[in-house]
This record gives sequence, C-alpha cells and structure tokens, in this order.
Amino acid sequence: VTEAPNLDETHDPARRSFVEAANLTDAAFPIQNLPLAVFSTEADPNPRIGVAIGDQVFDLKKVSKENERFAQPIRFALRETSLNSLFSLGRVALREVRRIAADLLDQGRSGNQVRRHALDLLTPMDSCAYHLPTKVGNYTDFYAGIYHARAAGALLTPENPLPANYKWVPIAYHGRASSVQVGQGAVRRPLGQRPPAAPATPPSFGPCERLDFELEMGFYLAGGNPLGKPIPIAKASQEIVGFTLLNDWSARDIQRWEMYPHGPFLSKSFATSVAPWVVTADALAPFRVPALTRPEGDPRPLDYLFDAADQAHGGLDVHLQVQLATAQMRAANEPAVEILTSNAKYLYWTPAQMVAHHTINGCNLQAGDLIGTGTISGPSPGELSSMLEFTSAGSTPVALPNGEQRGFLQDGDEVAFHGGCSRQGYATIGFGSCVGRIEAADVSSVGRAV
Ligand code: CA
Repeated sequence: VTEAPNLDETHDPARRSFVEAANLTDAAFPIQNLPLAVFSTEADPNPRIGVAIGDQVFDLKKVSKENERFAQPIRFALRETSLNSLFSLGRVALREVRRIAADLLDQGRSGNQVRRHALDLLTPMDSCAYHLPTKVGNYTDFYAGIYHARAAGALLTPENPLPANYKWVPIAYHGRASSVQVGQGAVRRPLGQRPPAAPATPPSFGPCERLDFELEMGFYLAGGNPLGKPIPIAKASQEIVGFTLLNDWSARDIQRWEMYPHGPFLSKSFATSVAPWVVTADALAPFRVPALTRPEGDPRPLDYLFDAADQAHGGLDVHLQVQLATAQMRAANEPAVEILTSNAKYLYWTPAQMVAHHTINGCNLQAGDLIGTGTISGPSPGELSSMLEFTSAGSTPVALPNGEQRGFLQDGDEVAFHGGCSRQGYATIGFGSCVGRIEAADVSSVGRAV
C-alpha cells in the first residue's frame, strides 16, 4: 500500500473527543471522521448542517454563528439548508471546517467552550431527522464495477457479457435527480411494463416482479467546471468533496424490456437512496489505495484518463456490507442478516477518472451534483452486489435463517447498506447506513388495469 496523501493532525489516531461514544474502539464516528449531514430536531424542525461525533450530531450552523474561526464565506455557507454552498467553496474550505470542528470537539482545552454548551450544540443522533445532504441538481450513475458488469452481462447478454468499449470508456447514464432520497424510509415498488412471456406476445403490465438493489458508493462534487471546459484528470480528485453509500434501486423486469437500445429509464428513476452522511474526501485520505491493477493485456487508459498520482492513490478501500430483514423476521424480533459484502477497491475506474471522463466533452458539473460509481461486486460469489447477480436472476434464491427465501425483494423487505474503513495505524471510520423498506406498489391510480 502506498503512503496516503494529505494527512494532517485531524487524522492523528491518538486524538480523542469529550463525546465519549466517539472514543469507543471501532466507533463509526470518531473525531477523525466528522462526516457532514443536513439534520433537524423536534425542537427545531429547520434543516441545518451538522457533523457526526460519536452518537451525537454537532450543530455547525449554531456554533459557527459567533465563532470567529470560521471565515465569513464558510459561515454564510453553514447557514444554508443544504451543503451545496459549502461544497461550492471546495476542498480547502471543507478542510478548514474539519480542522475547526475537530478542535471544538477535542477532549483537550480547545473543546471546553462546546463542552460547556453541549446541551445546546449536540443532539443525540437517534433523535434527529435527516434531509438530503445537497439539492441534487444532477445525478449520474457509472458502471465502473467490472465484476458486476461481467456478472450482470453474463445474465442479461450472455453472448457479449462485457461490452467491447468497457475497458476504454467509463460507461454511465444520466440518472434522475428528483427521486434521490435519504436512505431511511420507504421505497415504493414501481409499476411498469414487464417483458413478454413469449416472443411476439405483448408485454404485461403491473407491479415490478423483480425488484433489486445495487450496492454502490456515491460522491458529491465541489464547484465543478464551466460549460465547455473539461476538468483535467490531475485536478479531478480536488473536485470530489465527499463520499456516501448509494442504493440504485432497480426494477429488473422493467429494465430488461425497456433498456435496448437507449439504456435504463423507468427501471431506475423511481428511487435512488443515499446515506444521510457525507464522509469527506479528507477523512478518507488514509484509506486511499492504488487504482485496481489492470490484468495483463488490458489497455492502458487514454491519456486524458491517466494520471500517475490517481493510479497510485485514486482507489478507495471501503468495506461494504448489505443486510436484509424481512417483515416476518422483524415481527419475530430476529436481527437483520448479512447477505453479502464487498469493497470499493474493486472499481475498474477511479472516481477521478469518472469526473475527467464526465467533463471531457465540456459537460459542466455543478456543486452538489451526485455521482454513483456503479454496482461494486467483487471476484468471489459472496461479493456479488445485487440480487440479480447473487441469485442468478432469481434462479438460486438466497436462504434466510428463518426458512424464507428471496430471489428478488418482496414487500416489507428492508435492505441496509453499511460501509467502513480500517487500516493499521489509523482510526477506523464508518459511513453510517443507507436503508430502504419496500412498500407495496400503488395500484390505485391505474385501477383494474393491474
Ligand atoms: Ca447502477
């Protein structure tokens, strides 16, 4: 593993917070993490910006109001109800916020003021509501997980599992921004056209019968680029402010029927979930790894996608986990069961390559835009990161401990993504969770047609 870049005192593993829960071994939110979210409380229902510390949310809006350490542009950005303005100030501003927040939450003397006003500035995480971190102007979903592309391709297009362009082009499609939601509530099963049962027969219509998740990471952008001006690969990582867990809910039957020749549409646009927390690129610095080593014979990326520093540090070592809890399991008070794990290091293209590619035609990215990496499957069977893949399109259902089986998701199923990073010599950090519970399709608007 190469030496991680951009480390400073905020990564010091010896650092402790006066919030005791932040100091527990393997806490998701130690003082070295400090992910951002937009939250509200019962007492104050106005959405505002905070950071996670231990089991608490630290109110950055309140604390920045009268704190001279926050420069004026940052103070203004922290008054907003979304992170767009803060992200538009770029990585330097975020590093400043991180540094100040760490000082204010420190166990030492610098934390005294916040400690004295803890009741006012800290709220138990469990009692907060969370809102979308940014007003997502644009959402793009890549297809950068090569193990997923191969496994899904083998099921959908066995004659050509990996498209000929895959190792040259970071493939993506433009997703729907309006249906991006914080992963903590219900996801409605979509209605749509399902493929004909036999050739030359009409499609059927009704609730999706092959509802699936896709385990991905998402990332948010800083100021972006003006229209017509690409972001060079060497500068691309500076445009990525933070990472999150992302679930690209997918209606496989609708997708199979609609996607040729123009790509997925209604099979994806009904919902995309993100975790409430944005783990900053700075918090992730110790967990950067080299880009995936390309097997012998794979082409070297074209120059506009190749940067030595990105090859050395552009990958992400984030352990990912998917849990499932059915309605029957919850009724019996049985815990959610882990159905698969994976790791972001399996991505064939780095986030910086995705940004460079996205803008090479002059397309303008904007502050707060969201990019999905694509499903992150790994090389082993326990790392196939959608039901499509790990149940072979439903033909080998997963057996749950209570005797239930799942080929695809049923109503009442709750899917939870978790993510975390650990590395010798550094504090372990977590991404929180991205959760969705499947609700029955709403057939009221289409009446007897279903
Ligand atoms: Ca996807």
